[in-house]
Amino acid sequence: MSSAPSSSTAPAAPVAAAPVAAAPGPSRTALVRRARRINRELAELYPDAHCELDFSSPLELLIATILSAQCTDKRVNLVTPLLFARYRTAVDYAAADRDEVEKIVMSTGFFRAKTTSIIGLGQALCERFGGEVPARLRDLVTLPGVGRKTANVVLGNAFGVPGITVDTHFGRLSRRFGWTTSDEPEKVEQEVAGLFPRSEWTVLSHRLIWHGRRVCHSRRPACGACTLARLCPAFGEGPTDPVVAGRLVKSGPFS
Ligand code: SF4
Repeated sequence: MSSAPSSSTAPAAPVAAAPVAAAPGPSRTALVRRARRINRELAELYPDAHCELDFSSPLELLIATILSAQCTDKRVNLVTPLLFARYRTAVDYAAADRDEVEKIVMSTGFFRAKTTSIIGLGQALCERFGGEVPARLRDLVTLPGVGRKTANVVLGNAFGVPGITVDTHFGRLSRRFGWTTSDEPEKVEQEVAGLFPRSEWTVLSHRLIWHGRRVCHSRRPACGACTLARLCPAFGEGPTDPVVAGRLVKSGPFS
């Protein structure tokens, strides 16, 4: 994950599919059809797309997602084995020694703010949720360090509740595909949600993030080597020469 640490005060509201837009461009039907075609192509390309953070419980995923702000999943996965071995429950985090946690998570960046969030998270879980991670968006976003993006990651991957995770890759690709014109994560979430059945939301998030990391980069997308070239309205934003584009493709894994 690569966005800034999340705010803990955002109001909770379940995502609602965006109303039918009367925007210029392709008709709504054509837009939905093309979006679902892109999703099918991505499913073939990344049949095992999944959350690249390592975890074995909702609490571990919550902590890992907080640590992933402005940091690669790979780096987080190097740090969490020690952290998760040392702290197993919300009670452990609530009573954690601040210096010790800071030392463990230091290499993920913003380690003081992240330590504050992690310890505060443990305390909030103990005080308000009996030490358990709640499985509702409106509860999750009240926790320290947990915004809508983090909440949707946890809901989708640890609880099986469909959710769209709008990180930097998801937002960029959604705009390139013409699914939204917005830079606001919540609006992107709503507009994209309206194009797909709920059952696809979580895995669609993984597929876009995987494609963004490997092919559709922010600065120089590898258009000439992209499976989606025929379907993508932004084809040509990056090099279209197959050899030049091929050199831009990153192979992963990123965890
Ligand atoms: S064609 Fe280019 S802009 Fe479109 S998804 Fe592929 S790499 Fe990204």
